[in-house]
Amino acid sequence: MKRLLVVILAAGGAAFWWRRRQAAGNQSAGEPFASAGEHSHAESAPSEPPKLGGDVDPELLAILACPLDKQPVKREGNYLICQECQRHYPIRDGIPVMLIDEALTPEQLPS
Ligand SMILES: [Zn+2]
Repeated sequence: MKRLLVVILAAGGAAFWWRRRQAAGNQSAGEPFASAGEHSHAESAPSEPPKLGGDVDPELLAILACPLDKQPVKREGNYLICQECQRHYPIRDGIPVMLIDEALTPEQLPS
């Protein structure tokens, strides 16, 4: 009696495994790396620092000023550049980082 039960369970398990295997074959659901190549950038690496650049609201740009000398800044590439001290404030994911500690001084810039 006990043995029969084991056989039934084993058969049920095999059928379940077979169904799963077929489903996986249809849509490759069992493959954790199936779409890693396409989306590794956006989703699978949340600890990655935000990338430079992005669209900045022109109205926001117009009111931004260098925190050091209160001079207007001008966008150049992925940075906002102070007209006065020439510090480069990075734009990260469309958000200007107006922090003196985060800015590149003219000396720090690659020449
Ligand atoms: Zn400045």
